[in-house]
Amino acid sequence: MPFNPSLERILPKSDSRSVLLVEDDDIHFELVNHAAHASPHLNVQIERAVSLGEAFSVIESSPPDIIVLDLGLPESEGLQTLETFLKRGIPIPVIVLTAMANLELGERAIQMGAMDFLGKDEISDRSLARSIRYSIERWKQKTTLDATIADLERFGNAAAHDLVSPLNAIQGFTRLIEIGLENTEVSKDIHECLHLLEVSSQRAADLVTDLHKFAKLGRHSISREETDLSELIEEVESSLQPMIGEHEGSLVVGSLPKLNLDRGLFVHVFQNLISNGLKYHRKGTPPIVAIDSCTVDGRHVINVRDNGIGISPSDRQRIFAPFERVKIDKAVDGTGIGLSICKRIIEAHDGVIWVESEVGRGSAFNFYINE
Ligand code: ADP
Repeated sequence: MPFNPSLERILPKSDSRSVLLVEDDDIHFELVNHAAHASPHLNVQIERAVSLGEAFSVIESSPPDIIVLDLGLPESEGLQTLETFLKRGIPIPVIVLTAMANLELGERAIQMGAMDFLGKDEISDRSLARSIRYSIERWKQKTTLDATIADLERFGNAAAHDLVSPLNAIQGFTRLIEIGLENTEVSKDIHECLHLLEVSSQRAADLVTDLHKFAKLGRHSISREETDLSELIEEVESSLQPMIGEHEGSLVVGSLPKLNLDRGLFVHVFQNLISNGLKYHRKGTPPIVAIDSCTVDGRHVINVRDNGIGISPSDRQRIFAPFERVKIDKAVDGTGIGLSICKRIIEAHDGVIWVESEVGRGSAFNFYINE
């Protein structure tokens, strides 16, 4: 007799799972209920709720292992149903169910936080078993990952704080020693060493702070609001006043649009780009940084131009990667993280940043975002 084992005999039945099926339509409820009980790969008890309100009371009294949520309910339709449900922050995996499989809708549901997506026209005992069992496994992995990220975040916050405080103390005490030694007979070397100590501790503190900013960026979702870039630049300009004065530089601001973006994050973008324009100036040439915009293919392209040292073609790509600095600029203070932060922020807004430059004449950093 040919060896032809059926899958039913190979795959063990899963442990018993409780499923809450949120479905107001009797026929569709029966369809899913029947598929679930017909599957040799599922061992489930199904409870039913016919509205979101009823689902919330069932979950409160006896939380299920998984929820299968129809998007068309008496209170709401489509992804709005999922959004209302997810807003409650219920820590239970959700599979979304809709009248017809629609890839775009499914993709959006997964981006919002659903574990899987099933069209009613594709429900069978197999597809349902697969979806329920895989979703529960995905959920376990997501929960472990979330806990690990939260631990790392706590560690990062503590490390950033605990490293920066002693570095600030070193800097402060070095300054005090320097003041104490003023007008005393101490060799030039000692003054030089104290100065280096102060500069190095400041560099280390900047590096920790920038690294912390960079790491945090990847974890937080952006929150957009309509922002008048002219107003935002005014704010950035006043925060950079000491640096502008120190370099005897000037800012020229052209006409800028209103864009839908995360205001707080774009303060960082402009601070980085403008302060680079001031820092990387040519010796003997006061820096001028011009901020302007133009429209290309219906998109606002923002440019931050300077009359500084410029960037050679071989360096233009790599400076956007973390810790990349151009060798000749090592004398200028910096950690090599600023542009990578700008790139991350702009990409989080579905945008692109690039640089055009001529060595010895200046650079133009350009970007656009998708709103
Ligand atoms: P940092 O300025 O802290 O070194 P960034 O990531 O902001 O770090 O910049 C990376 C490198 O790109 C800089 O070290 C510098 O070599 C180069 N760079 C950035 N902006 C400019 C500019 N406007 N003109 C010339 N070089 C620049």
